Formats: sequence, structure tokens, C-alpha cells
Amino acid sequence: MRFDRAVIIGGSMAGLLGARVLADYFQEVIVLERDEACEGPEARKGVPQGRHAHGLLDAGLQVIDKLFPGLVQQMYAEGAERMDMGRDAAWCTAGSWKPRYVSGIELILCTRMWLEWKVRGRVAMLPQVKLRQGCSVEALLTDDTGTRVTGVKVRTAEGEETLPADLVVDTGGRGSRAPGWLEALGYGKPEEEKVGLQLAYTSQFFEPSPRYQGDWKMMAVFPRAPEERKGGFIARVEGGRWLVTLHGYFGGYPPTTDEGFLEFARTLPKPDIYEAIREAKPLGEAVIHKVPSSRLLHYERMERFPEGFVVFGDAVCALNPVYGQGMTVCCLSAKLLGEVVAAQVRSTPGSVQGLSRRFQRKLAKLISVPWMMGTTMDLKFPEAQGQRFMGLGLLHWGFGTLLDFTSVSTLACRQFYEVMHMRRGMEALLRPDMLAAFALYGLKSLFVPFPRRANVHTLPRAPA
Ligand SMILES: Cc1cc2nc3c(=O)[nH]c(=O)nc-3n(C[C@H](O)[C@H](O)[C@H](O)COP(=O)(O)OP(=O)(O)OC[C@H]3O[C@@H](n4cnc5c(N)ncnc54)[C@H](O)[C@@H]3O)c2cc1C
Repeated sequence: MRFDRAVIIGGSMAGLLGARVLADYFQEVIVLERDEACEGPEARKGVPQGRHAHGLLDAGLQVIDKLFPGLVQQMYAEGAERMDMGRDAAWCTAGSWKPRYVSGIELILCTRMWLEWKVRGRVAMLPQVKLRQGCSVEALLTDDTGTRVTGVKVRTAEGEETLPADLVVDTGGRGSRAPGWLEALGYGKPEEEKVGLQLAYTSQFFEPSPRYQGDWKMMAVFPRAPEERKGGFIARVEGGRWLVTLHGYFGGYPPTTDEGFLEFARTLPKPDIYEAIREAKPLGEAVIHKVPSSRLLHYERMERFPEGFVVFGDAVCALNPVYGQGMTVCCLSAKLLGEVVAAQVRSTPGSVQGLSRRFQRKLAKLISVPWMMGTTMDLKFPEAQGQRFMGLGLLHWGFGTLLDFTSVSTLACRQFYEVMHMRRGMEALLRPDMLAAFALYGLKSLFVPFPRRANVHTLPRAPA
């Protein structure tokens, strides 16, 4: 049995994916987006990060492929780059390059706004879904007891209106107003975890120089914490361009001038990004975006939570973007929402009783791994402001050693990529052969602290 109407707050990645899954269970799904309609894949005010490099991990790509059959192939045909993580990524993390091998882990390279635009195009074709632009949600409506959300109050250019709904989904991103709305309704605010990063991204499109020969489709250089604070990516994106994003932590922000941008690239931990772009031609203006912190809101821990209301996407967890997990978490969360609603339809047809709590609890579990991985790495920087716990030093040693190990062992790199791309949980790192090899490596590293082999410090070639 179908529900009548779902209302989604925010029409970005999480909202669009949410609309796609809810269309299977609701007669009508209305997506309310504050920004005005775009003519094409343009950067817009509500998604200021949209001009910066965005990688979609393998698990996210698989969800998109399943929800929108044929879309990924269509994007490849229209100019997105298909890459194998092992073969086509030149990836340097914690000071050393990863081995190059065929991994079977797929990534799509395209700009964020193009991906969102393509997804929006598919969602707009669903007969149950209405995409409404220029609609700002101002408040939640509840029943007389205040225990159930029954709709939203919306402001448009024409004035205010109310929209009743069986389920309201907040995917309003980092700026989601859900904490304030819940507080105003007497529920209090969700507990907040934060890690202060003072991170900035500066991005610039380039036309690659015909003289430059690279055997990669994506290059990433991550800093080795705690001593290094700068990094960068180059992604081949649609239109034969390179999108180059440089980042700096704790106020060391990459400049937006051509000379400043190049100079920043020259001072990265590895020279390869600078060497790739120094003869490339900048296209348009560079743009900067600042990310003060990563942030997780624990809706699942709230003592009381209204029925008929769920929150996901960056509205719950805004991760450090450097690890490229945010959109994939949106994909997996939307998939989870679909599963929870499907189970609800089977167990209590026509009622959303208990759905909110069940979803937020399962979501918290899903988010815990990327949150833990990212924040543990970030807390290695002494300036990172966040809760440090007992055993963190040991975890840092373990993670640091693991990262070094992934540079010298294809087995370790394979397992690590599986976890990083959210194809498998942490148990992939606990295979007996992996544990044995890691223990041996860890023991050696007590005597020789960092791999001094030349092959991890110069970019390996892609396999033929
Ligand atoms: C610099 C940077 C780089 C990133 N790089 C990557 C990457 O490489 N890979 C990756 O996977 N992720 C990356 N991310 C994260 C990714 O951008 C987010 O995880 C993703 O956009 C979250 O989608 P969302 O729909 O939850 O929120 P958002 O994309 O933030 O969208 C929220 C939407 O809600 C709308 N809205 C908000 N409030 C209201 C309201 N009251 N009424 C109506 N509409 C409203 C906004 O206008 C907006 O359209 C990056 C983030 C940043 C900041």
C-alpha cells in the first residue's frame, strides 16, 4: 500500500536520491529547493562546494547505477571519464604513492554540478515527483500533540503556503534548520560532534598542455599529518578539461590568482601536480570555499524524536571533503531510507509509526565508519579541534602504519581501497593474510619508521 505524500527539503544530491527511492512508496513526492531553477549544470548558491572537485566512490556509483538504469553509461558516452582506482589513479597519501594495478573499483570523473544535473534530469522524469524551485522551507508543522510532523511551511516569491505530508525529509545540507525546528517544538537539539579543520579548497579548470604526458586520469596528493598541511587533486572531467583543486588546512589557504595558485601547487608534498599544470592553460576564474569543520549531529541519540520526520545527507553528517565520501554517504543513506520504508510498508502498511527512529538509528551506524576514519586521521593534526579519546595515539599509529603499508603491499592497498570506497566494512582489513602481513610490517616499522623505499616516493607507472 502506498503513502500519500512525502515532502523533501532541499533538492541537491541527498534530496534527489531520496525522491527517487520514495517515489516507489508514495503517490506524490515534492522536492522543495530554495535556489531558483538552473538552465544547466551551473554552480548555485545553495551548493557553494559545487565548483570544486568531487569524486564519487564506487559504492555511490553502484547505487546511482541501480536507481537510474543506464545513467552512468550515458554520462560516459557524454564525456565523463571512467577510471579504475588502482590503474588510473595516481594517489599519494601520507607521503607515499600507492601501487598501480587493475583493481576493479570504478570511479566516474565529472564535475559535481554536471552529475547533480544529470540525476535531477532523471528524477524530474518520474511521474510521482514534483521538483519545485525557489521554495524555502521555514518551519515544520505538527499535529495537536506535537509528536508527529504533518507537513511544512514554505515561503515562495508569491508568499507563504503550507504543505501537508505523511513524511518530511530534511536534506537541507550543512545549513539544515532541523536542530532549531526541533528545539522550537520542544524536542531539544541533537548532540553535536565537531572537528575544527579551518580547511579551504581553491579550484580552477585547466586545458591540459598537449606536451604533458600522464598515464593517470586522476591525481591526488594528500598531506602526511601532522607535518604537512597542503594537498591537491587533478581530475579529468567532461569537456576534456582538468579540474584542479588545491587545499590547505588551518588557515594555509590556496590563493585564487594564477601565480598564487601555481606557487601553492609548487609547494605541495609532491611536485607532480605542479609539473602537470605549470604549462596548462587556466580556464576562467579560480574559486575558493572554506570548510571550518567536519560535523556530525546525533539525531539517533535524542530522547524524543517526532514521527513522520527524517534527516540525512550533510544535514546529519558533513565530513571532511578531502576524503570524498559525502555524496557516497548520501547514496547509501537514500538506499537505506528505501529499505526502511519498504520494511515499514510490509510490517505496518499505511503507517509511518516508528519509521523515523528506526531510520535515524540505522543511519547513525552507516555513518559511523566514514566519520571514524576521517576524524581519526584529522585529529592527527595538533591544531584540529575535537574530542581526543584514550587510545587515539595507538589508533594513529595503527592507521599511519596501515597507510604506509598500503604503499608497499598490493594486498593491503586492495583491502584498503575496498573499505575506502565503502564496498566493504572494516572487516576487509581483518582478513587473516592481511593481519599476518600487517603484523610483520608493523614490527619492522618499529625499527624503520617510514618506508624509505624509492619506489613509494616517485609516481609508479600504470600497468600496461
Ligand atoms: C569543498 C567540498 C568538496 C567536496 N568534495 C566531495 C567529494 O569529492 N566527494 C564527495 O562525495 N563529497 C564531497 N563533498 C561533500 C558533498 O558536497 C556533500 O556531501 C553533498 O553535497 C551533500 O549533499 P546534500 O544534498 O546533503 O546537501 P547539499 O549539497 O549541501 O544541498 C542542500 C540543499 O538544500 C537546499 N536547502 C537548504 N535549506 C533549505 C530550506 N530550508 N528550504 C529549501 N531548500 C533548502 C540548499 O539550497 C541545497 O540545494 C565536498 C564538500 C565540500 C564542501
